[in-house]
Amino acid sequence: MDNQIFYPSMLKCFSECPLKYKLKYIDNLSMPQNTSSAQKGKKIHALANFYLKGQDISKLENALNYEEKAIFEKLKQNAYFQKEYIQSEYNLTAKINGYWISGRLDALMKDAENYYILDYKTGSVPKNPEYDFQTMLYLIILNKYLNKSNLNFIYIDLKNDKNYEIKLNDKLTSEYEKIITDTCRNISECSTHTANKDKRCEFCEYQKICDYFVDL
Ligand code: SF4
Repeated sequence: MDNQIFYPSMLKCFSECPLKYKLKYIDNLSMPQNTSSAQKGKKIHALANFYLKGQDISKLENALNYEEKAIFEKLKQNAYFQKEYIQSEYNLTAKINGYWISGRLDALMKDAENYYILDYKTGSVPKNPEYDFQTMLYLIILNKYLNKSNLNFIYIDLKNDKNYEIKLNDKLTSEYEKIITDTCRNISECSTHTANKDKRCEFCEYQKICDYFVDL
């Protein structure tokens, strides 16, 4: 076991396709991607961060296009976004069963009873939010710091104006720790990095060059 730090995207990538993990995180082979939706997300995240920190964002708001303004308005009206602010764009790292895991929270809020990790989505929300690696890592890391039974993860789906709420409990804590530990161990011990060809290949940035590495 070394001091490698694992991020949600790494665990997700490996669980989907070990070959993709190797190309991306071991060989550091970067491929061009569609950046327009990512740019929109980045802008909303930056704006939300300044807003929560109490900075004057009027000039930045004026520079938004119609669609971006509507998205940011939806976020400001969201009941979770209006709770008591603790931190935003917040890096957290913790050691779980010998493996370092890390993540960057969009925002951490609270009310009288609960803590809420917020994650704003301008694109799509994970298909299975309760077991998405982002959900699992962030809740487990924060639980190490706060050691509370009242932790919640909230995906704010800005496209469909919906919230997905996951409340951490003892059962989920054990399950999440096991999934995270097993996945980190599998990554650390993997030597073959097999290609996992399935319907997700259609959206993989390595699709055009993948067969070359599969045949090696
Ligand atoms: S195209 Fe498919 S098999 Fe190839 S790296 Fe991507 S996900 Fe893996």
